[in-house]
Amino acid sequence: EKTVENHAFEADVARLLHMMVHSVYSDRNVFLRELISNAADACEKLRYEAITDPSLSAGDGENRITLTLDEEGKRLTIEDNGIGMSRAEMIEALGTIARSGTRAFMERIEAARTEKGEQDAQLIGQFGVGFYSCFMVAEKVDVVSRRAGSDEAWRWSSDGKGSYAIDAVDVSEAPARGTRITLHLLEDAGTYTSRWTVEKIIKDQSGHVPVPILLAEKPGAEPARVTDGTALWTRSKNEISAEDYTDFYRSLSGQYDDPALNVHFRAEGRHEYTTLAFVPGSQPFDMFDPDRRGRMKLYVKRVFITDDADLVPRYLRFVRGLVDTSDLPLNMSREMIQESPILSAIRKGVTSRVLTAIEKLAESDTEAFTKLWENFGPVLKEGIYEDFERRSQLLALSRFRSTSSGEGYRSLADYVGDAKEGQRAIYYLTGGNLDQLRASPQLEGFRARGVEVLLLTDSIDSFWVMNAPEFDGKSFKSITQGSADLSQFAKPESEQAENKPETTAVIDDLITFAKLRLTDAVSDVRVSDRLTESAVCLVAFEGGYDRQLEKILQGAGR
Ligand code: ADP
Ligand code: MG
Repeated sequence: EKTVENHAFEADVARLLHMMVHSVYSDRNVFLRELISNAADACEKLRYEAITDPSLSAGDGENRITLTLDEEGKRLTIEDNGIGMSRAEMIEALGTIARSGTRAFMERIEAARTEKGEQDAQLIGQFGVGFYSCFMVAEKVDVVSRRAGSDEAWRWSSDGKGSYAIDAVDVSEAPARGTRITLHLLEDAGTYTSRWTVEKIIKDQSGHVPVPILLAEKPGAEPARVTDGTALWTRSKNEISAEDYTDFYRSLSGQYDDPALNVHFRAEGRHEYTTLAFVPGSQPFDMFDPDRRGRMKLYVKRVFITDDADLVPRYLRFVRGLVDTSDLPLNMSREMIQESPILSAIRKGVTSRVLTAIEKLAESDTEAFTKLWENFGPVLKEGIYEDFERRSQLLALSRFRSTSSGEGYRSLADYVGDAKEGQRAIYYLTGGNLDQLRASPQLEGFRARGVEVLLLTDSIDSFWVMNAPEFDGKSFKSITQGSADLSQFAKPESEQAENKPETTAVIDDLITFAKLRLTDAVSDVRVSDRLTESAVCLVAFEGGYDRQLEKILQGAGR
């Protein structure tokens, strides 16, 4: 007897499906890229597990992805002979949302919808949402899967409207190993049974997936190869076009934007590895996840091993791509890989190359670099206190708003180049937002003397400045801390007359009075050069926490 179990989707899945159906994408074709990339992942997982248990891939040798068109039945089938899913894996993978960043993604869609239209809708099209995207084109989806090595097969099916069903199927109805996904296409999605259309989409979107893709024109027909599954990164750079790189980036990262930068090189000599890395053109949604993990993939001799290997430091976690090396043994555990000195050598090499590429962009294309900086500057700056060795390099790369920047950005080299005669510090002011900082009375004295002050608004800024970096022999100094020491800079003529000696006595009285009234609230009251218009301002004592950092730490419950 047969039992069908019905399960409700997790609330967030239902929400996501609703968005898919009321399509947020102008380009529905992306569902194919998502399903093909899952099929390829499944093949790569199998290759990896088969290293320790070769019986898993016995029988059905070469990995492949096969698409079958069925114009009459209005169906499209995508089948792989990868790792497959057990019943529990199906429930976990196809009933919940495990992908990090998806929730943030949904929140942004919803915000964009209630606010305004097109531009934000476009932004949303830069990210893939995985398996559930198939409900953009299908009224019903059946997933039949048999986990490698298992003698059971299961079917998951759903119309994408709140629940799904799971039932056991006879292994004769399932692939010998792997997963078959059947899409019962919507009335207006008939084009996905046209050979010409599907072949073109595969070539355009998934031409560089490292598993061959085959296409059968109708059920029972002999499938023909559409792509050969050669790994793009193993080819030489001059054979690869910009479009090839972009397609590859998209299928690898699940982001649909154009990369801002790609770094492709082969290291030879002491260590041998190939890297193909991309700086995305927009912020990935998981960029500020608390785990701060990178997403670079590690391959050993073209076998995918893990995307958990910390191939770049945390402050480059927005970089997407892979490293393929022949220096590590295939059967090394993930834990051992993490601790391997070879891996740390690779990490160093990749980090250098990526930073060099970013530096080159900064020199050659200000506009493109500015965009990159606006997307990733807040993350890159984490490296200023986390990566001592590269601190000066990262400082030199950093761009800032300042009292002289206007709507543009200043580098520290700009700052130092325009510093006042004898100026020994790089002055900064931290705070929550730029307008607020620009209105700060603390800036008055500096403005009056034409001394530039950096305006730092990222939370991270309060941390790295504390770590006492120097740039070009100048240390960083908060203008809200300690005495402003502005006397070394000449005051503009117009204001010099105001310093009359007879006011000193009055001021002394005022200070005595203020100290008396504020004993518990402040540690000192002083005359200051920092103000020209305002009467008073609060400052932190020298060596204490900067005021913005104090706020952040209080916010963090410290
Ligand atoms: P992601 O690929 O980012 O994990 P998806 O929504 O695309 O997210 O897929 C969700 C999960 O479903 C995958 O992580 C995987 O565990 C499972 N899955 C989807 N398609 C397949 C497949 N063809 N073979 C095996 N597992 C699959
Ligand atoms: Mg996926």
